[in-house]
Order: sequence, then C-alpha cells, then structure tokens
Amino acid sequence: MPQDLIFYILAIGLAGLLSSFLCVQGMIRIKGAPGGTYFILATLFAAVFTFSYVFELLSGELSTVQFWVKMEYFGLPFIPVFVLLMCFEYIGLKTTLWLRSSLFIIPFLTLYFNHTNELHGLYYRYMGMSQDTPFPILRLEGGPFYYVHSGYSFLCVMLGVVVLLRQLQSSVRRFRIQILLMIIGLLLPLAGANLYMIGLSPYGIDLGPVFMSLSFVLFGISLRYFQMFNVAPIARDSVFESMQDGVLVVNKQRMIVDFNLALVEIFPFLEQGMIGKTVSTVFSINPAIVDILSIEQDVDLELPVENANKIFHLKFTPVASKRGVMGQAVTFMDITERVRMQRQLKELATTDGLTKIWNRTYFMELAEALVGKLHTQQEQFAVVMFDVDHFKQVNDTYGHETGDYVLEHVASLVKDMLRSEDLFGRYGGEEFIICMAGVTSLEAEERSNDIRLAISKFNQWGIGVPITITSSFGVACGNKNKEELKPLIRKADFALYHAKENGRNRVQVYQDEIGSVVQYT
Ligand code: GH3
Ligand code: MG
Ligand code: MG
Repeated sequence: MPQDLIFYILAIGLAGLLSSFLCVQGMIRIKGAPGGTYFILATLFAAVFTFSYVFELLSGELSTVQFWVKMEYFGLPFIPVFVLLMCFEYIGLKTTLWLRSSLFIIPFLTLYFNHTNELHGLYYRYMGMSQDTPFPILRLEGGPFYYVHSGYSFLCVMLGVVVLLRQLQSSVRRFRIQILLMIIGLLLPLAGANLYMIGLSPYGIDLGPVFMSLSFVLFGISLRYFQMFNVAPIARDSVFESMQDGVLVVNKQRMIVDFNLALVEIFPFLEQGMIGKTVSTVFSINPAIVDILSIEQDVDLELPVENANKIFHLKFTPVASKRGVMGQAVTFMDITERVRMQRQLKELATTDGLTKIWNRTYFMELAEALVGKLHTQQEQFAVVMFDVDHFKQVNDTYGHETGDYVLEHVASLVKDMLRSEDLFGRYGGEEFIICMAGVTSLEAEERSNDIRLAISKFNQWGIGVPITITSSFGVACGNKNKEELKPLIRKADFALYHAKENGRNRVQVYQDEIGSVVQYT
C-alpha cells in the first residue's frame, strides 16, 4: 500500500479514536450538562462515520467500498443536527420535541436516498474507482439529494454559529472565550468540507473527519480549561443578570470588577466602561457608598431611586479562590417594603390610631424606662392625668365624629406644649397621661394649669361650630423616695377624681402628707 495512503488512513483513524475518546469522556464528565447529551451523540456518530471511512479507504474493491459508504451514512447526516442542538441547549434556547424531530427529517431522507441509490440515482450520479491515482480511490458525482444533504449540513452548522454569535454579544466577558472556541470548533469542519467539495483535498480524500475530530478537541479544551459544560456559563450569566438584587463585585484594590443589570437600576450612571475604575471614582457623588464599601460590613442604607427613597440592605460576601479572598460581592437587597411594614407594625403597636400619640401599653413601657433612669439620676418628675369634662355631652350634642375631632386636636394642642423629654399618651377614652421629667411639684402643677387654660381657651373644635371644652387634671410627683410609676399613676388618678368632684376645669395635686389633694383653679 502506498505510503501516502497509509498516512491519510492513519490520520483519519486517529480522528476516529479521538472522537470515540471524547464521546467516552463526555459520557463520564458532561452527561447532565446543557448540550452534553448532544455532544456525546455528535462524537458517537462522528466515530461511526470516521471508522467507516477508514474501512472505505482500506478496501480496494468497489462493492466493499460501497458497503462502507453506506455505513458512513449511519453517522454523517446526523452530526450537524446534533451539533446544532448542542448549541441550542448550550445557550439555553428552549426547543420543542416537534422542532427537534423535524430537524432529523432531512438526515433520515439522506440515509434513505443514499442506501437506495441503485434504484434511482438521486444521491450519486456516478460511483467508481479512480484510475489516475497511485491507489484506488472512490470517485463520486453527486446527485440532487447529495446537494440537499450538503446544503442542509452547512445550514445547521451556520445556524449554530449564528446563535452562538448572538450569545457572544450579550454574554459577560468571562464566558466569551468559551463561546469563541465553540464557534471556531463549528467552523473547522466546514473548512475541511470546502476543501473536499472544491477538489483541493489530496487525491480526493475527504479530510472532513480529521477537521471534525479537531473541532471536538476544541470543545474538549473549553470543557477542560473553561469548564464549558460543567459551569453552565449561560445559566450563571442569566442568573446574575436576572437577579432582583443589585450585585457589585469589587476586588481587593476596591476596583469595580463587575455589576449586574439590577444594580444599574439603582445607579443609572453605571456603565461597562467603569469596570476597572476604583469605587471612589465611580461613586464620587455618593461618599456614603464609598465609606461603606471600604468598611465592608453589612449595613442598611437609604438611597434615592427614581424620585423615591428606597432602603437597601448591603450584604458583603467574600469572593475567594485558592489563593484567598480576591474581593467582595456586594448585594443590594431592596428592603423598602419590609422596613415599611415593620414601621407600620411598630406604629400600630405603639401609637394610638386617632390621636397619633403613644398608646397606653407603649406609654407605660417608655415611662417605666424613663422613671428608672430619672431615679438613678436622682431627678424629680411628675405624672399628670387629665380628662375632658362632660365629653359624653360633646358626643351627644355634636356627634361622635366631632368628638373624635376634639380628641385629636386636644392631643395635638397638648403635644405642642410639651418638651421633647416629656412622655405623652392616651390612657383610654378621653383620658390622657403625661410623664414630665425633671420637674418639681410646683412646676408640674403650673405647666398643667397652662395646658388646662389653653384647652379651655380654644374653641375651634368642630367644623364651623365653636365649642368650648374644659378639662380636669390630677398631678402626682415622684419625690426623693424613688416612687414607682404605678402607685404614682394611682395617686394622679385619685387627684383627678377629686378635680372632677370639686367642679371640674381645674388642676389638683396629690399631697402625700395628708393623703389627699390640694386644689388649684
Ligand atoms: P366627666 O366630666 O365626668 O369626665 O364626664 P364625661 O362625659 O367626659 O365622662 P364619661 O366617662 O361619662 O364619658 C366619656 C365619653 O367619652 C364616653 C365615650 O363614648 C366617649 N369616648 C371615649 N372614647 C372616645 C372616642 O375615641 N371618640 C369619641 N367620639 N368619644 C369617645
Ligand atoms: Mg370626661
Ligand atoms: Mg373619662
């Protein structure tokens, strides 16, 4: 056998072995990965085709050659479809069973026409052994369906290239090399096929299988070094980009390495060109962010987004490799709604709905804490209780709504007269309570009297109806004996009761010495 032929047969045989090897590798390593199954099928069918071709080249007689050509077609027509489906699955394109099945119509027809060529000659117009070469080589002249098959294979591969190119555009930089390798892998066999079709291949030997196995090697290289299938880069890409939380990745030098679309919604000035720039340059208009990013501690932050203030929880996740921490991924979680609900719940639990002052439970909680603090500081304080006089009559005369309006405005009027250190709550119904910090008995009584007068002077309570409201006050002072809150409230209530008894619209101070009250009007 001529040396040339041995060389080519060896090369094609090695290509077959390579395809088989990649097929086995695929089965072991990448079976479940996107595109993995089609990779295995493509390499398997390529091996069938390639080995049959080796046997075709080894046979000298036309009948044996024809047999092996038929064997080749059990593999050849299906490979481009498997490769195309591999590309679809790799980029995450969903295909229906109907589409997948119809893609195989032409390959099956190719198989059929090839195998029945003797009957119609639609696949090969001519089949014979060459006489002008140093060794016999099959000479073929394609019929109409031969060109259908060639065109279809070309289209499948080109479609694969197109979808990968589109993915290449939208893909994040780090996955581009993998996709480029796949594209080169797809184009390689086309180059080989072109050589064969335009007659540039040596002695008319089809070196397509060699190119094809090389392209599988390229897929294999991506697979090994870039974990093409294992990492499922497209899935990672889309997860990163479709995340609702904004993500900013910075390296140890606080340079921006990456960010996703959700982050651009928070900071619309972010653009790809800012990658590689430092955080302090990019966020110069927002120094708070720069500080937070340098402290690297989880924190809640309020930021204006689209004319509304939103609250974000910034979470730092170290990005580590074998060499240690390389940087931080900072997640911006929008917690506006959660915080709003929390605030609403807290308000519901602590504030009176009508008067917007503390409710009784929360007033007691705050007052207990305040009294404890005042005791340790040896400061005086007073508890003042007051109640609107004849309020039932207000309701009965002007209606419940006007009654509500009066209560609301009594609360707001009193609130404006208090100092920030005083506590003010609705004790129940039309009864209010004040804890005045750092006051003597006399001061508490004077301030209560001022409030009483203010309430009695105001008369614009109802809508368009002038109503005069009076109120009665009971005052009890926390003296040096470190008196507790609850007994003091009882004393203030007792004094209030006496204010009512003694004619209303007055302030009464509880006097310890005589266990009774002193009256001021
Ligand atoms: P006194 O001078 O003795 O305090 O007489 P009063 O009528 O104010 O006292 P009483 O306790 O008999 O009546 C209090 C009234 O306050 C009865 C209740 O319907 C009314 N009230 C309690 N809470 C509210 C409220 O939130 N809105 C309205 N409109 N009325 C309320
Ligand atoms: Mg009352
Ligand atoms: Mg009352």
